Parts: sequence; C-alpha cells; structure tokens
Amino acid sequence: MGRRSSGNVPELVERARSGDARAVARLISLVEDASPLLREVMAGLVPHTGNAQVVGVTGSPGVGKSTSTSALVGELRRAGKRVGVLAVDPSSPFSGGALLGDRVRMQDHALDPEVYIRSMASRGHLGGLSWSTPQALRVLDAAGCDVVLVETVGVGQSEVDVAGLADTTLVLLAPGMGDGIQAAKAGILEIGDVYVINKADRDGADQVRRELRSMLALADRPEGSWRPPIVKTVASRGEGLDEVVAEIDRHHAWLTDSGELEARRTRRARDEIEAIAVTALRERWGDVHGRSELDGLAAAVVAAERDPYAAADELLATFTD
Ligand code: GDP
Repeated sequence: MGRRSSGNVPELVERARSGDARAVARLISLVEDASPLLREVMAGLVPHTGNAQVVGVTGSPGVGKSTSTSALVGELRRAGKRVGVLAVDPSSPFSGGALLGDRVRMQDHALDPEVYIRSMASRGHLGGLSWSTPQALRVLDAAGCDVVLVETVGVGQSEVDVAGLADTTLVLLAPGMGDGIQAAKAGILEIGDVYVINKADRDGADQVRRELRSMLALADRPEGSWRPPIVKTVASRGEGLDEVVAEIDRHHAWLTDSGELEARRTRRARDEIEAIAVTALRERWGDVHGRSELDGLAAAVVAAERDPYAAADELLATFTD
C-alpha cells in the first residue's frame, strides 16, 4: 500500500472488487484527493457497477439520521445484504476520515466484514461533493455492496443535492423539531420517496404525521406516479426499521418497473460527466493551477480591450486547437 504508481491500480481495483476493505478505503481516498489515478480507477470499476441500490438518508441535524442509518445497516445485514455507508459532510472542507469511526452507534458494525463505513468531505476541491460522491458510490458498488446508504452529516442546504444522487431518498422528521414548517422551507416535500417519522416514542409523532400527510396530499402527482409512504420509527430501539426496508424495496421495484431507475441514473451520470468536464475546462484555463489564459483575458476586459463575450469565445477557441 502507499505506492502511487499507476501500475498499482489494476491490483487495487481487483482487491476492492473481491471485498478487501483496505483497498476500498484506499480507492475512496483517491477520490477525496482528486487523484490523477482516478481516470484509470474509474475505467477499471465501471464494468462492475450498476448493482448497488443507493439510498439517501437526509433530514435536519438531531432528527436521528445516524441512529437510523446504523439500525438500517443491522436490518439489511439480517437480510444478508452487503452494505456500504457513505457519510458526506458538504459543509466541511476537512476530511472526516475518522468521524464515523468515532460515532458510537456505528461501532456495532465496525467489525463486520460485509459492511463498509466511510465518511467523506470535499477537501475543497473543485466541484466538491457533486463530483466526488458519485465516484465513491461507484467504488462501493463495484465492491459488491447490495445497498449503499448515503447519509448527510453536518448542517447545510445540501439535502436536495444528496437526493439527486440516490435511487431512493429517505427524509427523516421528528416531533418537537418544528419540522412541519422546516420541511416546506427546505424543499423536502419534493425529494422524499419514503418519509420516516423518527422518535415516535415522543409526544407529537402523530401530529407530525398528520401535518406531513396533508402537505403531501397537496402535491400534484400524475397518475401512476409514486406516492411516498410515511413510516414511524423509534430508531434508538430499532423499531419500525423493518418497515422502512420494506418500503425501500417496494420503491426499488417501482423504480425498476416504471423506468424511473434508469432515468434517475442517467441524470446522475449526466451531472457527473458535466462536473468532470467543467473541472477539466477550468484546469486548462488555469483556474486551479494559477495564472493563464483566463487571467490574461480578464485583464484585457478590465483594460477595455475586449468585451466579455469575445473573451469567452477566445477561451472556448483554445479547445478547438
Ligand atoms: P442526526 O444528527 O440526525 O444524525 O441524529 P442522531 O442519530 O445523532 O440522533 C440525535 C439524538 O436523538 C441522539 O441523542 C439519539 O440517541 C436520539 N434518538 C435517535 N433516535 C431516537 C428515537 O427514536 N427516539 C428518541 N427518543 N431518541 C432518539
């Protein structure tokens, strides 16, 4: 381990595919670092992907995402599934490599060789998590995960972004958090495929459910479209998670039958290609590595020697050389 020559990549890919946790971890680190080896890594991984069900877990801080994710892992393991957990922190530029390991609830699964747990931050590189999360998902998919849970950690406005990456998005709410109002604000009513009212052991869970149900009923859904169910859970006691898994499976079946799975995955690939292409363009223009083409053109616009459209044309013309 630790060698960075490209000769290492086929072997790493092979080991990751066979389920070697260290190889999986190493590949995800390459993703976090935006390593130049990724081109070769992705080429090696892609033929072995497409099997993993990607499930996003989102909701306000404190609602019980981490507890629910851990309980879901347990439920999926009982069903014999190999599970990946990717905790993404869009608000932090730092790697959270150790973060999940420190989270007590995840310790239940720390020694299970059929569970990969990893947290990830953008490390400030271009495109951030929109670029790196799909790549990390691909690693876990190729490693044979049947289900990958993508949990957002930290605070942020990124719930909707994470939903864009998932096949199925779980939106968690809980009583006593003012979620009814928050939900509408955050656009959460559009993104949920399955709604989970966690902390159902607390007063007010039924009230949250009623509010949510009437808000969802207002949505205009065409005939034949998915109607998001609402499930109550007590994640801290593992209650209701079997029903959540059943709803995830039911949604997956609907996605497959309706053609929506392919549509979602195509959208995801499109976003990923775009992010890679934009990163490549920016690198070429020197947005990443210092002064170049773009700086020269900017100076010309400021000096009133060019208009910005002409400058943009010139910039694009550098690609037809
Ligand atoms: P996250 O910030 O969304 O990841 O939330 P956590 O999973 O860290 O949970 C926040 C707090 O709520 C913790 O103290 C949990 O123990 C507690 N919690 C989680 N699920 C439940 C539940 O079903 N009932 C109750 N009463 N507390 C819960």
